[in-house]
Amino acid sequence: MIKRKNIALVAHDKMKQDMVEWVDWNRNLLLPHKMICTGTTGRLIEETLTKEQSEETPSALEVERLKSGPLGGDQQLGAMIAEGKIDVLIFFWDPMEPQPHDVDVKALLRIAVLYNIPTASNRTSADYLITSPLFQKDYVAKQKNWSSYMQRQV
Ligand code: PGA
Repeated sequence: MIKRKNIALVAHDKMKQDMVEWVDWNRNLLLPHKMICTGTTGRLIEETLTKEQSEETPSALEVERLKSGPLGGDQQLGAMIAEGKIDVLIFFWDPMEPQPHDVDVKALLRIAVLYNIPTASNRTSADYLITSPLFQKDYVAKQKNWSSYMQRQV
């Protein structure tokens, strides 16, 4: 029995088609897990996964939709990572277009590295990640000990 993971999914507008195709392709691997998404990405993922949901898994789908990324959704996800509520981040960010919320994007990517969260930024990486044998296990991301940082003299 695999531990249910909390998978964060975000895609910028020009990457949403990639995300929808990736989710569709990996639906059976994703369905046992909880998906937490920025608003618009979540709506598209929900539509994709309910479109052809199989008879055997009618109640498995759980998609939590946060605010849209530019309206604070990326920051909500970052806060969830800091609180230990996210196991995996799939974030298809657009390498060709600046975003109105670029600072939020950078913050989300930074916090994912800080908390050692497995992160995929494109479809191939996401395929590798979701098919990793570690994905099927109760893998706990090792956290650095920040106690001396918190005790520092300022
Ligand atoms: P969206 O946000 O899913 O609401 O479009 C994604 C983003 O731009 O961060």
